[in-house]
Amino acid sequence: VVFTGASTFHKEVPVDHHHGHHHGNGDTRRATVITLVVNVVLTVLKWTAYTFTGSPSLFAEAAHSSADTTNPILLWFGYRRSKRPKHARHPYGHGRETFFWSLMAAQMMLIIGSVLTAVHGIHSLRTGAAPEISPLAVWIMAAALIGEGLSIAMTVKGLRRGMDGKGDGATKNPVLLALLVENGADLLGVMLAAGGYGLYLLTGNPVWDGVFSLCIAALLAASSMFLIKRNVSLITGETATDAMHERIADAVKKVDGVQNVDSLIAVMSGADSVSCRVHVTIGQPTPLTAYAESRSMYVQYRNHQTRVRDAILTSIRELVPQADDIVVVCG
Ligand SMILES: [Zn+2]
Repeated sequence: VVFTGASTFHKEVPVDHHHGHHHGNGDTRRATVITLVVNVVLTVLKWTAYTFTGSPSLFAEAAHSSADTTNPILLWFGYRRSKRPKHARHPYGHGRETFFWSLMAAQMMLIIGSVLTAVHGIHSLRTGAAPEISPLAVWIMAAALIGEGLSIAMTVKGLRRGMDGKGDGATKNPVLLALLVENGADLLGVMLAAGGYGLYLLTGNPVWDGVFSLCIAALLAASSMFLIKRNVSLITGETATDAMHERIADAVKKVDGVQNVDSLIAVMSGADSVSCRVHVTIGQPTPLTAYAESRSMYVQYRNHQTRVRDAILTSIRELVPQADDIVVVCG
């Protein structure tokens, strides 16, 4: 289960940084606490179900929820560290630490959720031990199914709300992406566990339970490896979305004196920040040959360049609050 703060969906960062910061912080904290509490409850319930049955599918889900409990702690830790101010040794800030800690969370899932489950499932299949029959376990899995269903419904609803603005989608935001993949894997995991244990109850054949636990291990491996790949790409400097490029280009083009945007590179430097480098050609009010004639004309030329460059910086900062490390090169 993963819950999210409203701020995660607000792609438009308020220009009033101070206010926006505090607000977002509170939302993220609340969402983290809810996620943590619900996952602890699910972990205890699923381990109880496993203890009563010895079912490998239920073991898989208990291990899965255990890993899910460490997730919000790691993501919160990463979020806090990424918000530390810039300083001499980190002049571009710490935004990318978000990607690092969400990579750690995904690796945790791969080890605890997938590897442990696969080892346990293979062991159960080899010994052929039959799980106990427990109505309590069935109730617990039904409750988990409802919980995961509600959580995914809330996520989809929240994402829809975020998308209809000028949102850039979930793919560049590891927090949102982790949320979608996680919620999907959570729901599928419980369904597979219910299927494995249910088929065992119906047929009396423990092989079903063992095979379905391996399916859960594969599901967790696939979702965590996908997230690992995304975060590695973001850590090593992936470009921002096309929509973000367009917004920055628009902010540059609307400045008086800009003749052409020659090139523009925007790279994700955190979950909600981009660093961008823009090359522009600045139109001159007087023919260029006139500048060569006197010193005062040259000074005029330089002043014009500086004015336009400052106007570009201001325009980008105003229209794209996510841009935090802007370099403007004038040709
Ligand atoms: Zn999960």
